[in-house]
Amino acid sequence: MESMPVVPRFMDVHTHPQMLAYNSDREAVLGRAKIAGVKMIAVGTQFSTSHAAIELAGKYPKDVWATVGFHPAHFSVNWYHDKNEQSSPEREIFDIVALEDLAKNPKVVAIGECGLDYFRDKDEGTKDRQKEGFVAQISLAHRLKKPLMIHCRAAFPDLIQILKSKPEILNSPPGIIHFFSGTIDEAKKLLDMGFYFTFGGVITFARDYDYVIKMIPIDRILSETDAPYVSPVPYRGKRNEPAYVVEVVRKLADLKGVSIEETSETIFRNAQNVFGLIKS
Ligand SMILES: [Zn+2]
Repeated sequence: MESMPVVPRFMDVHTHPQMLAYNSDREAVLGRAKIAGVKMIAVGTQFSTSHAAIELAGKYPKDVWATVGFHPAHFSVNWYHDKNEQSSPEREIFDIVALEDLAKNPKVVAIGECGLDYFRDKDEGTKDRQKEGFVAQISLAHRLKKPLMIHCRAAFPDLIQILKSKPEILNSPPGIIHFFSGTIDEAKKLLDMGFYFTFGGVITFARDYDYVIKMIPIDRILSETDAPYVSPVPYRGKRNEPAYVVEVVRKLADLKGVSIEETSETIFRNAQNVFGLIKS
């Protein structure tokens, strides 16, 4: 067995440090992550935040990578304006050509977040646009040979059905299900297809995910913060940040019954495997 590094290394594979929430102290936030041994993947949610993620990755080449994608919530007509993402209330229009141009950048390690979200908007037209946008992003991931960063909420049967209907354009590994919230049965189907799963701050204060975390093999689990959203204990109610991923890994280690050092190292290697390039 290879020897483990003296200082544990952590991976926050789904976080948004490029968002407006950090405009006043981004350097300090990244500095705290560095001290905690945390590297991260800055996830895009539309063109503007994908572009900003790439810029940030360029500025911190050893610690930050980027993704490019269009979040399913942005296909909604009654889309609510999230001030973390943009200052103007105008809706961005899905443009796969523009996204593909961005995604060719070597800092980009995945396509997403993309997927389906029926939690807030159950309109059939919105669902159709989400499905179409998701399929377009699956094809993009296939063309560029990058894994998918999938967001799915209250829509796992449709998500699995779409993925199963496209075996010829799924990469190996196909990608990551960000903050998995489906059933055990759905987890098993996605495991069989080769997917990885991330868990975030919610697992430190809700017990609903313990069982599925115990079931998924540790070599398919990754850690995330989804910062600035949903902080882990003991930071609940405060703005989240990548350094707090340590608390998520601590909880995962606890549920798996192994040390935090071993868990963080396994997750780091899982991230190397999925994203292909982080070899230091
Ligand atoms: Zn996110």
